[in-house]
Amino acid sequence: MSELLFRDDAYLKNCTANVTAVGERGIQFDRTVFYPNGGGQPGDIGHILRADGTTIQIINTVKGGGPDEVWHVLADDAAHPALGEQVQLQLDWDRRYTHMRYHTALHLLCAVVAAPVTGGQVAQDKARLDFAVEMDALNKEAIETGLNAFVDAGHTVDQRWITDAELDAQPELIKTMSVSPPRGAGEVRLIEVAGTDLQPCGGTHVRNTAEIGRLVVQKIKSEGKQNKRVIIAFAA
Ligand SMILES: [Zn+2]
Repeated sequence: MSELLFRDDAYLKNCTANVTAVGERGIQFDRTVFYPNGGGQPGDIGHILRADGTTIQIINTVKGGGPDEVWHVLADDAAHPALGEQVQLQLDWDRRYTHMRYHTALHLLCAVVAAPVTGGQVAQDKARLDFAVEMDALNKEAIETGLNAFVDAGHTVDQRWITDAELDAQPELIKTMSVSPPRGAGEVRLIEVAGTDLQPCGGTHVRNTAEIGRLVVQKIKSEGKQNKRVIIAFAA
């Protein structure tokens, strides 16, 4: 179990940490700034800085089976730090920040398109959500205008925790059918884009929608009878 520092401060770029496990899947630390792949947001990459000044690349970050269990994946031929060793963990911040901007943009897309979400993915150059909706309910210009109005408004993005029981009493908060909310120790993390969107989410977000920058709808396409995909990207 690791202390997940990105949960309370997504802007932390590095931290001191101690190795608590060395296994087949990678390395575990007592604390980390690395976000593990999940909820449509890719796992972070970066490196471990050892006391002797050498570095070890982290090529992915994934979840383990237990609560707050995070594995930092190394290349097959990489040196391994020792159990108990104290190191610095340093994020590839530019890549992560892009994920934060796109991930937050997907919350806005959720608010613009009033339909159940069936899937989603963030990448370096685009992001998408799939909706259970008819094709003619999706208008490229209207979605773009809606997204950019939220960006231009500079809404704050905050988090708070509610109990599982409180969430169960408000099932309308759950908008994503394909991803169950991140529950842990009886509490669920809610992300609120002021006046725009409120839903359980375990990802990393920017503090203000203005940080996302202007967006374009790259493509709207059918992914079968139920699912329609909306792909967005940063405006050039
Ligand atoms: Zn989110």
